[in-house]
Amino acid sequence: MTVALDLARTDRNINGCSERPVLRQRGQREVFCGLTGIVWMHRKIQDAFFLVVGSRTCAHLIQSAAGVMIFAEPRFATAILDERDLAGLADANDELDRIVDRLLARRPDIKLLFLVGSCPSEVIKLDLARAAARLSKIHAPTVRVLNYSGSGIETTFTQGEDACLAALVPELPNSDRTAPPSLLVVGALADVVEDQFRRIFADLSIGPVYFLPPRRAGELPPVGGNTRVLLAQPFLSDTAKALEERGAERLLAMFPLGAEGTTEWLRAAANAWNIPERKFRGVVAPCEERAQTALRRYRDQLTGKTIFFFPDSQLELPLARFVSRELSMRTAEIGTPYLHQQHLAAELDRLPDDAVLSEGQDVELQLDRCRASNPDVVVCGLGLANPLEAEGLTTKWSIEFLFTPIQGYEQAGDLAELFTRPLVRRSRLEV
Ligand code: SF4
Repeated sequence: MTVALDLARTDRNINGCSERPVLRQRGQREVFCGLTGIVWMHRKIQDAFFLVVGSRTCAHLIQSAAGVMIFAEPRFATAILDERDLAGLADANDELDRIVDRLLARRPDIKLLFLVGSCPSEVIKLDLARAAARLSKIHAPTVRVLNYSGSGIETTFTQGEDACLAALVPELPNSDRTAPPSLLVVGALADVVEDQFRRIFADLSIGPVYFLPPRRAGELPPVGGNTRVLLAQPFLSDTAKALEERGAERLLAMFPLGAEGTTEWLRAAANAWNIPERKFRGVVAPCEERAQTALRRYRDQLTGKTIFFFPDSQLELPLARFVSRELSMRTAEIGTPYLHQQHLAAELDRLPDDAVLSEGQDVELQLDRCRASNPDVVVCGLGLANPLEAEGLTTKWSIEFLFTPIQGYEQAGDLAELFTRPLVRRSRLEV
């Protein structure tokens, strides 16, 4: 469900690390909770299972968000915890143990079980970290049990992935100190995208290369002082911090969206491996050219169109950089739930000067700014899309950028198409 929080309102313009003014908002916000991340994470780690410990609302959210998966053997479920007082918590733990026992007996394919916390008060009272440790001991070595929170109280929906990956970091084996540096790409990518990047890294002679999350629980990548981390998603601050605490070095980079973003993302790794520019260009230039060709047809439809980003997925900055620099769109406002100045430094440098950059939300004020800018396309969460469509604005659900493979050269055209689709739909409705 969407969460509306009314925090103390302190709208003001302040400067962060970058010179750019940021409109900081701490009012009511409309976001989905971190449970939503299960919808794409459960497809990624093929022998993992996500057991939400939550209410009926959580179960409904997961079922409707992931409704397309009804034909597959499910890799997620909700253990519904009804209202109970503190005295009933012992029962709740016993009940959870019984549910996990039954699940694992029925599904021997599960090798990694996540207990996912939620925000109902009955769940907050439960110590899921202790439950995970207890259950891990019972089911070791066949099944590892971890926990994280997908609660909607403090999160945006992509923080679910961050929390899930951060929970995996302590489980990663130590890397061999004497081994040469390895590259760790962090963030869930579609398998097809991952395979493309593997090929490019191999052509660049960069490696060994590992991905987090891995496709199988038994393939956890090693980490240590010789690990170089390349973030594939901009919303992984807790995971990055946990990896840095294990000695890994994060490479400063843009994010691999569009031809430019992909080239600069790869370049960060190439620089760390001292790959000569000539070799780098030799590998990436043909891919770049294919991406440019794919983008050309969408550029004609999008040039000069105005776009407004509401804060939702935390992908807003790289997306705004892509649409303004590669599709010549005009960005009225770029809203983001959180602005991680360090992770987004390279993106911040490339944003158009005339766009408002805002962090956090005060939804009514932002809606007023949106209407005043009269955008051609609005990128926003599901909760705002219908009301804005009813007002005659054309919207794109930000969650689609998580469900669709959009990273890398071969997907640049598909990414551009996501912005043209709502305009095409609107023009058909108007005929
Ligand atoms: S975790 Fe909280 S916000 Fe998310 S579905 Fe459950 S009750 Fe709703």
